[in-house]
Amino acid sequence: MKKIFENKETFKKAYTEALKKQFNVSVENASITEKYTILAKLTNENLEKSYNETSEYVRENNLKKAIYFSMEFLMGRLVTNNLHNSGVYHIVREAFTDLNIDINEIEERESDAGLGNGGLGRLAACFLDSGASLGLPLYGNSIRYKKGFFVQEIVNNRQVEHQDPWLDEPFVWETKKENESLDIEFFGEFKNGKLVDSITVKAVPYDVKVVGDQNGVVTDLRLWSTEPSEKVKNQNKDYLEMVEKISESLYPDDSTDDGKLLRLEQQYLFSAAGIRNAIREHKSLGRDIKELDKYYVFQINDTHPTLIIPELIRILMDEEGFTYDEAFILTSKTAAFTNHTILAEALEKWNVNLFKKLLPRIYEIIVLMNEKFRELIVDDGRFTNNQINEMLLINDDMVKMANICIYGSFSVNGVAALHTDILKNIVMKDFNKLYPTKFNNKTNGITHRRWLMHINKELVNLLDRKIGTDWHKDLSLIKEFEKYVNDIKTQEEVFEVKKIKKQQLADRIKKLENIDLDVNSIFDIQVKRLHEYKRQLMNIMHIIYVYLRLKKDSKFKKDYYPHSFIFGAKSAPSYYMAKRIIELINATAKIINNDEDTNKLLKVVFVENYNVTYAEYIMTAADLSEQISTASKEASGTGNMKFMLNGALTIGTMDGANVEIAELAGIENEFIFGLSSKEVNEIYDTKSYKPLETYNSDLRLQEVFNFIETIDKDKDHFKDIKDNLLYNDYFLVMKDFDAYVKAHERANEEYKNQERWRKKAIINIANAGFFTSDRTINEYNRDIWKLKRITFGK
Ligand SMILES: *Cc1c(COP(=O)(O)O)cnc(C)c1O
Repeated sequence: MKKIFENKETFKKAYTEALKKQFNVSVENASITEKYTILAKLTNENLEKSYNETSEYVRENNLKKAIYFSMEFLMGRLVTNNLHNSGVYHIVREAFTDLNIDINEIEERESDAGLGNGGLGRLAACFLDSGASLGLPLYGNSIRYKKGFFVQEIVNNRQVEHQDPWLDEPFVWETKKENESLDIEFFGEFKNGKLVDSITVKAVPYDVKVVGDQNGVVTDLRLWSTEPSEKVKNQNKDYLEMVEKISESLYPDDSTDDGKLLRLEQQYLFSAAGIRNAIREHKSLGRDIKELDKYYVFQINDTHPTLIIPELIRILMDEEGFTYDEAFILTSKTAAFTNHTILAEALEKWNVNLFKKLLPRIYEIIVLMNEKFRELIVDDGRFTNNQINEMLLINDDMVKMANICIYGSFSVNGVAALHTDILKNIVMKDFNKLYPTKFNNKTNGITHRRWLMHINKELVNLLDRKIGTDWHKDLSLIKEFEKYVNDIKTQEEVFEVKKIKKQQLADRIKKLENIDLDVNSIFDIQVKRLHEYKRQLMNIMHIIYVYLRLKKDSKFKKDYYPHSFIFGAKSAPSYYMAKRIIELINATAKIINNDEDTNKLLKVVFVENYNVTYAEYIMTAADLSEQISTASKEASGTGNMKFMLNGALTIGTMDGANVEIAELAGIENEFIFGLSSKEVNEIYDTKSYKPLETYNSDLRLQEVFNFIETIDKDKDHFKDIKDNLLYNDYFLVMKDFDAYVKAHERANEEYKNQERWRKKAIINIANAGFFTSDRTINEYNRDIWKLKRITFGK
């Protein structure tokens, strides 16, 4: 395996020369930006060879490719990851020491590639890392948004959104491939087998290399940008604006569809471009279009790329002379679908009129699919009219994306055992009856390279000393660490590592938020998108309860172990209730942090602009990981896995992958509480929950509400939040409150027995091996993609 930099001397030489050549500066006089830029450029250039070799290998060996279509890729910074995965991080570090450059300062210079909202986009990024590291021809396909996910600022306790103009400075890691541009058609009319009077937009690809872990494999993420097409004679203002807008910004919402027309334009753009790109490559290699399924599999990450299905059918029928049935069969052999949510409001639907106007031919194809599908389910004979209507691809003047995906693909997977169970038995029950072998589970994962090896070298050192380094390549071997569970020395070392990581986070929080934290306190952390189902509200209500109790109950105060509660969360700009909850958390934090009476025992921090880079500091520093969604609502979660792998204990509900965490580590090593998903669904079915009664019978809730009335001069300032709880409480915050308080009491007691706590931390680390995305990707490959490995020199 070739190193991109031979040794520190050759690297130093290349680096100084490049600085001189590009910026005409010496190392001593170069700015941080210049130093970063040259490091990134050299790294990227040196990856070129492996990139070309990988492409060549895949081509010459006729390997099948999996294309991962995702509207989001939350990549974070690339420099550290690419240096580590190339196996040259230590060379650069040593060279920089000689040159008197602080490598951390250079790494900090890079801004996050924030092309995603949260978990779904981060999952896509982890998958690419695992694919390349396992030597699989897995490639990403998405949009090159000029503006990333918004930058959050907190002003007067409230979220303010700023644009993230991440491409205003050069993004060193991308390569524009102008000559591989494609024309994509919107609007117009389909007449006599042709689309006429349409508007053409040019899709231009930019490739970002994805580096495998020291195996010489470099794949890529292809990001499509939009430009005016030469075909369009009259490039008026409206046209230019439309072209500009399509790749302008990522819609900052992961659960509802708004900004409708533009969003559909974006979805079609990257779906159609990705499919045509694959077909062009397929044909250029002299292969028969009928064999497309032998060379490509298209993974549809949530419903945003659904249109690859009708688009492929369209191409096969209109351009390749297939019949509908032939086109459908081939298409459904290439497409596989991953579902990510059961939240009703997040199941994508498009108004028929809007759809027809923007994509007339695609709409006709979907109508055709819908008719064929109707025949199929009517003939089946097992479904009622009601069930049939629910399953149709078009119903009530709406195009239903998930239904298109299920019908048009050969595999449908959920993202955690419980989630898949709910899909099969509740949400998509009828589809599962129709296609019993299509549904399967692929529990999510995280790349342990970024989420342990690159961010927690202290823990890596400890693990290496105890169990060797084989676990780097196969995380299941981290299980070996469990044999140290009763070893006092190891327990102390785990504790020391945690303390160092807490200090590093505390330093960052001091610098960025100007709040002092006591590293001897319990770091209790909830970081994730702000959503009512994730129940940050329950967390802050519990904190208020603790605060009030500390003020009036001296025995409680004496027994209370100091806590630092840390939040990080962005709300969709248009999500009213989520923004109100952010305000409540920040307003409460101010009061609590300034109360001399209690602030040695209780601190609350809301970190501004939670993103991948912030997460890299946060995940390693938690004692307690808050995973408290209403059971059945969180499909999987991946933050929960990052925390566990770095030695945090989970306080959580039996939801998403928490269920598997509790199973693997033992339920006695987490703090599991609250309603089960079955109980939650019973409550919804029977409408048996009366929030007002719960409120009236629980003095603690009343006191919390009273406190909330004192936060602002206007006692009704947070009335909307309170009323929502009293008269609706759909996410069962008050219903689970008592169980949540008790779970915290258990955690508080347990932490005082440090030996027991440290054992549990070791057990959590040792049993987190299952959650590497290498395992997830191996399962995707075994059951769905069936790709052959790239094996250089074997
Ligand atoms: C892992 C991650 C998420 C997902 O967190 P969940 O707790 O699973 O919702 C969201 N945002 C960032 C920046 C992450 O790194």
